[in-house]
Amino acid sequence: MAYQTINPYTNKVEQTYPNASDADLEAALTAAHKRYLEFRNAQPETRSAALHQVATLMRDEQHELATTLTREMGKLIGEAEAEVALCADIADYFADHGPGMLADTPLTTAAGPAYYAKQAVGVLVMVEPWNFPYYQIMRVFAPNFIVGNTMILKHASNTPASAEAFADVLRRAGVPDGSFANLFIDYDQVGQAIADPRVAGVALTGSERGGAAVAKEAGANLKKSTLELGGNDAFIILPDADWDLVRQVAPQSRLMNAGQICSASKRFIVVGDRYDEFVEFMKQEFAKVQPGDPMDPATTLAPLSSARAKDKLQKQVDAAVAAGAHVEYGNTPIDSDGAFFQPTVLTGIDRDNPVFNQELFGPVASIYHVDTEEEAVALANDSSYGLGSVVFSQDADRADRVSRQLEAGMTFINRSWLTAPELPFGGVKNSGYGRELYELGLNAFVNEHLVLAR
Ligand code: NAP
Repeated sequence: MAYQTINPYTNKVEQTYPNASDADLEAALTAAHKRYLEFRNAQPETRSAALHQVATLMRDEQHELATTLTREMGKLIGEAEAEVALCADIADYFADHGPGMLADTPLTTAAGPAYYAKQAVGVLVMVEPWNFPYYQIMRVFAPNFIVGNTMILKHASNTPASAEAFADVLRRAGVPDGSFANLFIDYDQVGQAIADPRVAGVALTGSERGGAAVAKEAGANLKKSTLELGGNDAFIILPDADWDLVRQVAPQSRLMNAGQICSASKRFIVVGDRYDEFVEFMKQEFAKVQPGDPMDPATTLAPLSSARAKDKLQKQVDAAVAAGAHVEYGNTPIDSDGAFFQPTVLTGIDRDNPVFNQELFGPVASIYHVDTEEEAVALANDSSYGLGSVVFSQDADRADRVSRQLEAGMTFINRSWLTAPELPFGGVKNSGYGRELYELGLNAFVNEHLVLAR
């Protein structure tokens, strides 16, 4: 597929980018490997200053960088600015804390003095999606740059300008050549890169289909992979929930980024007798959002990232309704050239409904009603995904007990989902494996090198 910027608000093609040749890929791999060989013999602290400078540039140019995101994948300008700010925080976090995380670890053994060092492993391939075009790159770039790994990026074909803008910030911040290369390569070239002996691993964020294809290449070539895939996260409201808090966070936990967030709450599970009240509340809140130009700060509903994304979501909702789901609110077209999808509230989704176990990547909330905590846990876990989850209860022990029973990589109690540099991010089951951010993210691609003396 061609790399193109198509503004999802106007549906106009703004720019098309030529694909990289095999010679471009070879040159990038050569430069990346050469730089890795230099990095592995240098202290990680020597790379912190450039990473801090990346953060500084991102803060200085926050609005301009955010505009590229909004123009290219449609998100609200305020949300785009928040993404840029988060990226700066991630860069600072690993610049400050990364070197300490790489300190040698002494080991206790009767065999003699021993330690393990955490060392770089080589060139990594990054395959990233369009929903947070900078943040997805930064989650892999910042820790691995401090480790001393170097990276080749294959970004989503609909976010090439964002990929270029990110690479440009790195260049201007003084990140040395070869540390990072954005390449407009196709799937076959991703496979070639993974197979290349200079490449040590691959990190992918995206769909199950993309993840399985890339992990298969990695497995065939004995390369390590991490996969951050989709989610169908439960938002469990126990009978003793603080409803003021629930009301504060429930709508936005679904609607942010026009609903295109892997760890957004997607299945709302109400335990007990306030189900009707919750459905009514969500209908009213979803009716309040205002579609419009995502560059206008007054707009509260952005278009989806592309006409294709909108069509896919529409097909899923149509299939859900055909199988008996009830549309409580929404699912009517919005008159615009933009890829808008009206926020929609669905109920009555039973286990046989095709969307029961599908990720709806847009502003569609599914609401379920159960009678007991045990049923809520069973329903939450009745999914092939296991990314995030939310539990509301005023009883801390109860909330903790429920969260420990959830098959999820992350649980948030009495609050919406959150991502921050110091919190590990990732899932289980078909939501993938491995973690990004925090020390666990930095450990993803290191050689834990044991040294034992006599
Ligand atoms: P996708 O189709 O898998 O695309 C993601 C990336 O993978 C793109 O760069 C895509 O390139 C590439 N890709 C896909 N198939 C490939 C293959 N066979 N070989 C090489 N590269 C391949 O995913 P998407 O549907 O656009 O992205 C949304 C998905 O990402 C959702 O499921 C969402 O939940 C998930 N996500 C997960 C996380 C997380 O941290 N767990 C975070 C954000 C999003 P092209 O664009 O050229 O196809």
